[in-house]
Amino acid sequence: MGFFDKLKQGLGKTKNSIDEKINNVFSVFRKVDEELLDELEEVLVMSDIGVETSVKIIDELRTKIKKEKIEDEDDVKKALKEIMADILNIAEPKLNLDTTPSVILVIGVNGVGKTTSIGKIANNLVNQGKKVVVAAADTFRAAAVEQLEIWAKRSGSVLVKKDEGTDPAAVVYDAIKKTKEIGADVLIVDTAGRLHNKKYLMDELFKINKVIEKEMAENSKEVLMVLDAETGQNAISQVKAFKETTDITGIVLTKLDGTAKGGVVIGICSELNVPVKFIGVGEKITDLQLFNPTDFANALFE
Ligand code: GDP
Ligand code: MG
Repeated sequence: MGFFDKLKQGLGKTKNSIDEKINNVFSVFRKVDEELLDELEEVLVMSDIGVETSVKIIDELRTKIKKEKIEDEDDVKKALKEIMADILNIAEPKLNLDTTPSVILVIGVNGVGKTTSIGKIANNLVNQGKKVVVAAADTFRAAAVEQLEIWAKRSGSVLVKKDEGTDPAAVVYDAIKKTKEIGADVLIVDTAGRLHNKKYLMDELFKINKVIEKEMAENSKEVLMVLDAETGQNAISQVKAFKETTDITGIVLTKLDGTAKGGVVIGICSELNVPVKFIGVGEKITDLQLFNPTDFANALFE
């Protein structure tokens, strides 16, 4: 199966849902008019793209239709896809791992797929010939450490862990030491998504960040926020909450394979201006794709 087909398959329910709704609109298509634009706007809103972003897309579509004198169905669809791809195209999805070592801090609420995505990213980097260290800084639950240990083995990366309940910043400190000692290329830090309360969680992240800034001041750094596509519009408020303590450099949008709410990615890019770097399309180690705005927009409907 080609990459594009895999993407379409991964987008499963989102694609089916948007594709069906859009083609329903066009099934009674007579001409390009305000009524058509209204109906398309409704489809976008119903597809978890968000009201604000849907209105913006339709405004741009109206302008494009006028300027390019668009009259037929295929050209309207093509224009719509181009507008979506433009919104999604914020920055190169490629990770900035220019220095050796470099560091990836992975954050996000509980259960969104942080640990799983770390396993997939680590595997990817190891396959590129890089030496990877993963830090189990989710010390809130013993099971979290065990889970990362399994992914470390699977991906062929080195695990740094401490006892349950240890200060996560201390784990990060040790992991940075280890990374430098063994001359690893990339350190990936797993974090907790739920602690006793939100303030506590943000304080911990702040401390982890400080250790990284201090010990790896000259090194390339990525902060990836993981979001579960199934949360739909709520994902946007999650980013806003984490943005207060951490400079997010990219989004990993997981579980696109199981949801019809994948349209939220367009809302995320439009409202937050943070690039999506990876999408998760399943639970297997290979079910992570580098995000491609054009392919994504093209895969949404036909
Ligand atoms: P964390 O709490 O953020 O570390 O989340 P986990 O990595 O433990 O993942 C929570 C659940 O989501 C696990 O059962 C994963 O297998 C599942 N998961 C993660 N990413 C994906 C994905 O892209 N697709 C699907 N279907 N499941 C996923
Ligand atoms: Mg986890």
